[in-house]
Amino acid sequence: MAYVITQNCCKDASCVPVCPVDCIRPADGGDTEMLYIDPTSCIDCGACQEECPIDAIYHEDELPEHLERFRDLNAAYFAANPVEVRFAEPRLEHPAVEPGSLRVAIVGAGAAACYSAAELMRVGGVEVSVFDRLPTPFGLIRCGVAPDHQRTKQVADAFASAFRDPRLTCYFNVEVGRHISHDELMRHHHAVIYAVGASASAELGLPGEQLSGSHPAAQFVAWYNGHPDQAEADFRLSGERCVVIGNGNVALDVARILLLSPDELARTDIADHALKILSDTAIREVVVLARRGPADAAFSVGEFLALGDLPGVDILIDHDGEFSAHSADPETQAKIDLIREFAARPHNTEHKRMVFRFHISPIEFLGEDRVRGLRVGHRSGEIEEIETSLVLKAIGYRGTPLPGVPFDADRGIIPNEQGRVIGSDGQVLTGVYTAGWIKRGPRGVIGTNRACAQETVACLWEDYDDGRLRRELSPSKGIDAILAANGAEPVDWRGWLAIDAAERAEGAQQGRPRVKFVNVADMLAIAKREGPTRDIPAAAAIRPLLSG
Ligand code: SF4
Repeated sequence: MAYVITQNCCKDASCVPVCPVDCIRPADGGDTEMLYIDPTSCIDCGACQEECPIDAIYHEDELPEHLERFRDLNAAYFAANPVEVRFAEPRLEHPAVEPGSLRVAIVGAGAAACYSAAELMRVGGVEVSVFDRLPTPFGLIRCGVAPDHQRTKQVADAFASAFRDPRLTCYFNVEVGRHISHDELMRHHHAVIYAVGASASAELGLPGEQLSGSHPAAQFVAWYNGHPDQAEADFRLSGERCVVIGNGNVALDVARILLLSPDELARTDIADHALKILSDTAIREVVVLARRGPADAAFSVGEFLALGDLPGVDILIDHDGEFSAHSADPETQAKIDLIREFAARPHNTEHKRMVFRFHISPIEFLGEDRVRGLRVGHRSGEIEEIETSLVLKAIGYRGTPLPGVPFDADRGIIPNEQGRVIGSDGQVLTGVYTAGWIKRGPRGVIGTNRACAQETVACLWEDYDDGRLRRELSPSKGIDAILAANGAEPVDWRGWLAIDAAERAEGAQQGRPRVKFVNVADMLAIAKREGPTRDIPAAAAIRPLLSG
């Protein structure tokens, strides 16, 4: 008997070090879509299941029917990659530091920022300040993960103990570069970690791409997830067909959300404005386009498999007979098998349709003011026009520059070596670090940020131990003074808990996980109702502090 890792695996790998027989792979996160358990080595102890932050691990006897396939997928990984016992070196715990000797600012409160904070807070004496421009933490965990994937969002619970610790101060609703500068952060902290993610969307550079009705999928995701920046976005879902360009997991998310029934959506924490419009949509078909073939599909096996269980939705495969391909890679082979299975399924003409098309490249967006179609090219050279009034581009994310922080515009990242930021002269900027997508580019799932953050924090400890971070800081109260002078209204952890509680309470009334606030003023009103979110000094008291 063995345990099995399934579809929701976030790859945070917290299960790996607790396994007494070292049978979870890839142990270092590796280049796979998820982690796997070797069924022949597993001794059935259950330690991994207890540790998994999103309950993605099952005993094989308790696997729900729709996840049965993962038993084979776990085994297939080890058939292709026989396990070599290779216990990870026990992680060296850094000894506690003298209070006041290491104060670290983390910019961003998404997964990479949270993993960085949790990693630092394991060491006694460290003080951490977390800044985020929204009043709510958790970045893409809150505003990127699809609303019908509530389990994935549970990973946020793993950070609660770090954030509750009095050594950690939250400055949510504070924008670095507007309310406080990089230099000011450096004056008040021994180190700064930028973990701001990559929120801009990549462009195709095609004619007509800027027409109304053509949107980055990321914008649509932020809209239905209640991100305040997109609360007013105008998505017209009055046509019968949407075309999604790209076939990664974001493409699958938006396609699924467009086709879910109003009843299914109403059980989630989707933003109310999106629920209203999606409940009334005319869309019956979503076409998912990919330049490459089935063997190169960018979606993960788990996400693709789950599409087969969508009620009232048929999965159609528009293929050119490439399914005979075989791959030595178990994940690729599983995708090819699934595509073949979906292609052979009978279809119900009453159902909505998600159509996967391969070897198709977009050429031009058609229309005058609004998109009315997409011209595409087949690998045979044939040209086709697909009629549609909505095109969502799921072709990737890009980072954006922050004032005063180096930026590699070609790669859309902060230039760095293992997380140490590199200045324009090619030298390491002492005390400046980066983690997450803005460090390594927009690749990997939520849990991938754990190893990424650990690498960055390990560099920070090395620099601390070498004395490179040692210097006199301005008093930490000066931060409040700067924020007050620049009109910031910071929200602390208590303020977020008040917002969280209000959202959950409203959700409980409606049989939903939560009902999200989508505008900042409403969030601030709730946060303040719980008392001042931070003790900002009066104007007269702050002037002397500003000179620091
Ligand atoms: Fe390892 Fe125990 Fe999980 Fe099996 S059940 S994979 S032995 S931690």
